[in-house]
Amino acid sequence: MPNTNTQIPSTCWECSTHCGSLLTVEHERVVDIKPNSYHPSSRGAFCVKGIKALTEQTYHPNRLLHPLKRDGERGSGSWKRIPWTEALDIIVDQFLKIREKYGGHALVGAVSNAHFSRGVSVALLMRAFGSPNWMMNQDLCGGCRGISDKVTGLSINNGEDLDKTKCALIVGRNPAAADPAQWLALKRAKKTGAKIIVIDPVRTATAKISDLWLQPKPGTDSALAMAIINWLITNQRYDKKFVESWTFGFNSLAKRAANYSIQRVSEITGVSGDDIRKAAELYANGPSCFVSGHGIDAFTSGVQTFRAFHCLVAISGNLDLPGGNRRVKKPSGFTNYIEVLHKS
Ligand code: SF4
Repeated sequence: MPNTNTQIPSTCWECSTHCGSLLTVEHERVVDIKPNSYHPSSRGAFCVKGIKALTEQTYHPNRLLHPLKRDGERGSGSWKRIPWTEALDIIVDQFLKIREKYGGHALVGAVSNAHFSRGVSVALLMRAFGSPNWMMNQDLCGGCRGISDKVTGLSINNGEDLDKTKCALIVGRNPAAADPAQWLALKRAKKTGAKIIVIDPVRTATAKISDLWLQPKPGTDSALAMAIINWLITNQRYDKKFVESWTFGFNSLAKRAANYSIQRVSEITGVSGDDIRKAAELYANGPSCFVSGHGIDAFTSGVQTFRAFHCLVAISGNLDLPGGNRRVKKPSGFTNYIEVLHKS
């Protein structure tokens, strides 16, 4: 690392937005973090977590930097520092004892996010001990979205093309608080005339700049998705060519969606029929971009709610369309963490 007053472009990893940052480094310590307005994705967006987290946590005097072993009664607060080799031996011995007594399946690893390298490392560690058990917190953080994305075959996570969209359909997400880069993109889209629909029980800052705010009873978003699907199909506003070429099960979806008339969904959700119809029309006049958040993930039936919205993205022809929801594309030869697990 350079010694004095050097500015280094970097990336914030405090959340999956991955904003571009500029680090000021003095005597091998990061002393300041600023947004990088030249970053191609975040374009200068940043938040307080990114500014404070690294400098306050990394150099905090109480940060645990070495293994500590209890030295006395549990709860006495007495610990002694031990070498890494000893710590690793203790952990492995305990794992082996459990495996010997109960079998490998008695072991389970838990990580906070499969997205980072520790997710795959813990899974591989468990495998080494003969256990397939691996837990993560994704049921509260993008997991429902991820599962639906995979089972519907869309692969559109983080592919919102707000810069070219004509309509953003935002469900259970408040980019004004959750994602500064997306919030800037949304405001740019609004300036160029894109319509913004927000589905959220709360009148968030994003709802305040929307053209249409639908305020459903909490947990009824999937009914709204089904009503819009039904409206697109009955009004012949879905993408027939795409449906014929690329989808499976369209007739079953149409049959199921037929149960969700605007009148019935108005009763389920508490949203007026006029507003549901307006939302369907605006979305049909795309290209439209589905923007989603933890409001869906963190409620019951999150996977099924996402499936309904993901089916809407597909049959409306907004999949991988400029201004719609782009599919994830990897540079050739690139392998992500989950693929490492499949291949090993
Ligand atoms: S939104 Fe905040 S925490 Fe997330 S990557 Fe950007 S600066 Fe970091």
